[in-house]
Amino acid sequence: MNRLRVEVQGAVQGVGFRPFVFRLASELGLAGWVLNGNAGVAVEVEGDEAALGAFSRRIREEAPPRARIRSISESRPPGTGFVGFEIRYSESEGQKTVLVLPDLATCPDCLSDVLDPGNRRAGYPFTNCTSCGPRFTIVRALPYDRPNTTMSGFPLCRECRTEYEDPCDRRFHAQPNACPACGPTAALRDRDGAVLASGIEAVDAAARCLAEGAVVAVKGVGGFHLLCDARDASAVGRLRERKGRLRKPFALMVRDLPMAREVCRVPEEAIPFLSSPEAPIVLLERRVDSPVAEGVAPGNPNLGVMLPSNPLHHLLLRKAAFPVVATSGNRSEEPICIDEGEAALRLGSLADLFLVHDRPIERHADDSIVRVIRKEARVLRRARGYAPFPVFANRPLPPILAVGAHLKSTVALSVGREIFLSQHIGDLESPEAMAAFERVIADFRRLWEVDPVAVAHDLHPGYLSTKWARETGSPLIAVQHHHAHLAACLAENQTQGDALGVTWDGTGYGTDRTVWGGEFLSGSAAGFTRVASLRPFRLPGGEAAVREPRRCALALLWERFGKESLRMTGLAPVASFTDVEKEVLASMLERGLNAPVTTSAGRLFDGVAALLGLCQRSSFEGEAAMALEAAVDPAERGAYPLPFAENSASEGAPLVLDWSEMLGALLEDLSKNVAVPTMAARFHNGLAAGTAGVAGKIGQRRVALTGGCFQNRVLTERTADLLESLDFEVLLHREVPPGDGGISLGQIAVAASTMGA
Ligand code: ZN
Ligand code: ZN
Ligand code: FE
Repeated sequence: MNRLRVEVQGAVQGVGFRPFVFRLASELGLAGWVLNGNAGVAVEVEGDEAALGAFSRRIREEAPPRARIRSISESRPPGTGFVGFEIRYSESEGQKTVLVLPDLATCPDCLSDVLDPGNRRAGYPFTNCTSCGPRFTIVRALPYDRPNTTMSGFPLCRECRTEYEDPCDRRFHAQPNACPACGPTAALRDRDGAVLASGIEAVDAAARCLAEGAVVAVKGVGGFHLLCDARDASAVGRLRERKGRLRKPFALMVRDLPMAREVCRVPEEAIPFLSSPEAPIVLLERRVDSPVAEGVAPGNPNLGVMLPSNPLHHLLLRKAAFPVVATSGNRSEEPICIDEGEAALRLGSLADLFLVHDRPIERHADDSIVRVIRKEARVLRRARGYAPFPVFANRPLPPILAVGAHLKSTVALSVGREIFLSQHIGDLESPEAMAAFERVIADFRRLWEVDPVAVAHDLHPGYLSTKWARETGSPLIAVQHHHAHLAACLAENQTQGDALGVTWDGTGYGTDRTVWGGEFLSGSAAGFTRVASLRPFRLPGGEAAVREPRRCALALLWERFGKESLRMTGLAPVASFTDVEKEVLASMLERGLNAPVTTSAGRLFDGVAALLGLCQRSSFEGEAAMALEAAVDPAERGAYPLPFAENSASEGAPLVLDWSEMLGALLEDLSKNVAVPTMAARFHNGLAAGTAGVAGKIGQRRVALTGGCFQNRVLTERTADLLESLDFEVLLHREVPPGDGGISLGQIAVAASTMGA
């Protein structure tokens, strides 16, 4: 007889790990115990060598599917004499390094419980087990135990308690365990708060109202959604009008995979992501014969589709039997609404009815958005299902708070070897968003009981996150925006050493106080050199140019042709301005007044989209770039030239990639009436080739593609393929957004390095 001790770290609590160990040990005839500790799960077992070997192997191979193991260590303590196998109760001393799990979509077993008319949970919308259910959105404090969750107000009934205490039951220590006898209840209310139906009837009635064209606010796991029949053009139009959302695509929820296939082309590689426990919104190509109204995503060839992620949504979608729009319960760009009182106030004029329940939501979590790029799900918006799973550092870090940037904000907190990246907060442009930002910061500090020794923020002095950081009185570390993008990509990929960061986005404050956005930075979290950038140009009207791609087009033309550009009225963007507008723009450009200099790749995309007639004014960030990507003819291999500028050779100065030849070639194609998809492809291919040119000249073998522009699948795939064919190692994001949602992670990495950690 020998003894084996196994310590498992990672997200291993609340996922059925102890019952799994209990069953495994019993099957192998091993005696001992298993325990949830502050650092993870600890096990000691005794038996013969063969059984211990099998245990060691199977604990790795057969671990519960929802567990995310970071490390397993083994030791051989002396001694024998265990009798039987027991599950010991949690110890509560030591540093809290255990991980809070993200919310997990309903597992197949729970779904069949809900759908089985003979089951005591038939039609019960709050069914869950250790493999599924809410986690992050219900936990009030650590450790994750029922009294520390929003389920504390629902005492377990006798049957639920029996399940909860039985190590062989899949609801053993399932903290949100509930049933119709003891758990939360659903209710359908009208705008005045009157209850129209409750329990399963509430769900059925809500489905009927959806079929009749109503907009229904539905309280889910991480907040409210606004739902309407996606086939019903007038319901969709009403929702757009009420939300004040012009063209930005709405997400869809569908009952199951077959319904997803009626709506979109679902490639084989997307299926595991759609039906994963994270259940994110996956961007898919809309079918030509899709039953979904055009207004769901006007002019957009893609649709964001998700499957139900909790039993309430499952039941509703089964009853409704048609695809529904499921957009965040908020006015445009405000944070998602999480409680009934707030919903009545903020959503009162948006929804006709409210399908609610009495399980409190402790913190918000929007739906995550992923896109399949290079056959992997890349998270574009990180929230439900992913947050707050950390990024692991290769060494212990001092406690640092990072406050992110400005748009698509997230914050991050380092605790030992873990960097906890918050759920998506939103654009810090409304008082509601700032309140949510402060709430998330307070929440993270409280949850992990951490007092940051420094606050990392964006170099931009005008960002509200920067101003907020200044008011904390803490030691501050300012991090250049694109440096943070590079550091985030390296941190996510656990990469040591330097890389060439291709950091392309819309806007970031540069060390020279100009607006950067088409940068090539060589370095690591420890520091960087700006080795190349796109040729700068002046943006007439600054912020206004972000909303009007036609201004970007004019800016590019002006840089190359000067005043002459105003007479190029054969071009869609130039033609769209009145003479008076042109005069104003010309004087801005001539005198450099309210016309900041930028190297932004995002604005280059905007300008080209306008020249191709795809988008003159945008109603949401990224609209023009999305249209340009969508227009690409995938078969076209031609590329517009993107050479180095001639004055690029000067000592020490960054290389300049000159887009003006690209512009010339594009104008020539336009004059020859070349098809838009061909030109869109040549533009993307030109950028990929230009990037490879820089990589070749710099000689750094490792290249990180990061920044909001790399949400673009065509750009990412063409660039990565080309770089790999030239033997470069390419780093891409996976679970951390390439856009500004990833900035806070990079800020932590840079700040830690600055502090010498
Ligand atoms: Zn389950
Ligand atoms: Zn019960
Ligand atoms: Fe950015």
